[in-house]
Amino acid sequence: DLSGKTAVITGSNSGIGLGIARQLAQAGANIVLNSFTDNEEDNALAAEIAKSTGVTARYIKADMSKGNECRDLIEEAGVCDILINNAGIQHVAPIPDFPTEKWDAIIAINLSSAFHTTAVALPMMRKAGWGRIINISSAHGLTASPYKSAYIAAKHGIIGLTKTTALETAQEPITANAICPGYVLTPIVEKQIPDTMKEYNMSREEVIENVMLKRQPSKEFATVEQLGGTAAFLCSAAGDQITGTTISVDGGWTAL
Ligand code: NAD
Repeated sequence: DLSGKTAVITGSNSGIGLGIARQLAQAGANIVLNSFTDNEEDNALAAEIAKSTGVTARYIKADMSKGNECRDLIEEAGVCDILINNAGIQHVAPIPDFPTEKWDAIIAINLSSAFHTTAVALPMMRKAGWGRIINISSAHGLTASPYKSAYIAAKHGIIGLTKTTALETAQEPITANAICPGYVLTPIVEKQIPDTMKEYNMSREEVIENVMLKRQPSKEFATVEQLGGTAAFLCSAAGDQITGTTISVDGGWTAL
């Protein structure tokens, strides 16, 4: 039961972040949603979560590519018992063609943002006497594929940050872990389908079967509900001694 706890989830107006927000709200946590936009729909999502679960939920706009905005997000939340570093983007290109600004943006959003939010959230968790940090890495935090250099570097890097955070909090009631999803059919993955279809001259179904789920032995996408459930588990009392590690939700990808 997470009643009375507040969870801040970066990049949570869609996909996995939103799925985790919904599950933590179901478990009773108050919710802070975030993205870099400031649309009516963003605030409506928070209102809908509050209405359907009875928790307090609000949306705070902050651009996770900017260190000061990452820090401001946690300051503005005011309390952060559960920090989910989830915001992420992707770009696919061979290293010689990889645009420098894409490299910089991916390292900033997928890796450095977690450093900035953690730096501000940790003192709040210490004051509250309890905390959970969950960094959303990837199967690509443990293995590599061609053409995703920045993403894979950032996702490996965030596991290093997770381990360090865990050691710095090891003797406190605070844990830090990374969840490593395999493929989940969210907008970040949808956007890769048309390019991959062109690149390999394949149909949508062939791309899903032969490219995306090629390395996912279950041959099924993981779901945002499963990732929300994994986050809720790490926030439960069963997770008190789980720290500095990774949990794969990848249909067997990393067993190959
Ligand atoms: P998504 O595109 O639906 O979600 C990404 C979220 O990040 C969105 O809410 C978006 O608004 C937000 N975001 C992007 N740039 C931002 C910025 N500058 N500031 C604030 N928010 C920003 O995709 P998703 O699949 O839900 O991805 C969520 C996380 O899960 C990412 O870190 C991604 O790398 C990771 N992941 C996804 C998969 C997958 O197959 N979908 C697999 C492994 C890991």
